Amino acid sequence: MSTIDSPAIGTATINAVSVDCPAKTNLTLHVGPSHAEWGGRHELDTIYCAVGVYDTVTATRKAPGSGFSLNLEGAYLGDLASSGSDMRRNHAVLALFAMAEASGHEPDVALNIDKRIPVGAGMAGGSADAAATILALNTLWDLDWPIERLQEVAATLGADMPFCLTGGYARGTGFGERIEQLDDDGDIVRDLTERGFTGHLLVGAYRAELRTPEVYATFDQIGAGDGDENHLQKAAVSLHPRSGQAIEEALRAGASQAFVSGSGPSVIAFVPTEDAADAVQRAWQDSRCVDRIIATNAPARPIVHITA
Ligand code: ATP
Repeated sequence: MSTIDSPAIGTATINAVSVDCPAKTNLTLHVGPSHAEWGGRHELDTIYCAVGVYDTVTATRKAPGSGFSLNLEGAYLGDLASSGSDMRRNHAVLALFAMAEASGHEPDVALNIDKRIPVGAGMAGGSADAAATILALNTLWDLDWPIERLQEVAATLGADMPFCLTGGYARGTGFGERIEQLDDDGDIVRDLTERGFTGHLLVGAYRAELRTPEVYATFDQIGAGDGDENHLQKAAVSLHPRSGQAIEEALRAGASQAFVSGSGPSVIAFVPTEDAADAVQRAWQDSRCVDRIIATNAPARPIVHITA
């Protein structure tokens, strides 16, 4: 069993742990039939790739019996900013309660989320925050659980969460929660790299959110587009046409691959050179087909820091 790459703990009590957890995209996303015994969820076969846009979750000890608290910061909080009363449904808080129950600790923890991953964007921002919380508590509470045990807790919370704990590349099956980590230089990743899923990575992000169940419901009606590696792309574009425009603009300006991220509406473009990356950014800006551009790279991995 592998263990988490976290800093040496020593004997001093740890009071605060911060985790930078990357967003995800799906390089391929093949959607199979839905299953009643999975609550109507569809069978998936997907290649996950962690993208270098990070949320930072800090977990700080609070006085015994004082309960949890949650604070959110960041310029792009979307509907999360107005969901103060819904704090208990935040994915990071659900992860805190799941870890408290699994480990027997009281959830006397202050959580702070510095949010940079676009919300409701098909980039698993909520799952990244839950994964970051799980990794932070594993160190804060000195559990030192192996990744497999943390993934079991994560799988009870959502399909993307087990992947978010490790990042890198992975194949996901089941409803996406069964993870097989892929080597960066193994056959599957090499094949995708040769097909252009590499280089500079641009995210075209939107203020608008797409609700994942609505995208699947549309997919159930209209199906996948011919040749689309992401079977949800046609449904996402039909609900949010600017994503389709951003894909066309990126390919025209020199992207080697451009596609909707997961259930959308964000668009990911892989671009081979810096000049081509500049051209894609200009094309997106001039046509106003995205609201925000993030320039980064992939693959990325979570980073754990002891901060106090
Ligand atoms: P999915 O994982 O369903 O594909 P997504 O990646 O498209 O979702 P997320 O950013 O994870 O989108 O957000 C989906 C919804 O989850 C949001 O609209 C929000 O109401 C809720 N949510 C709860 N906690 C969080 C969180 N910490 N960060 C982002 N969204 C959260």
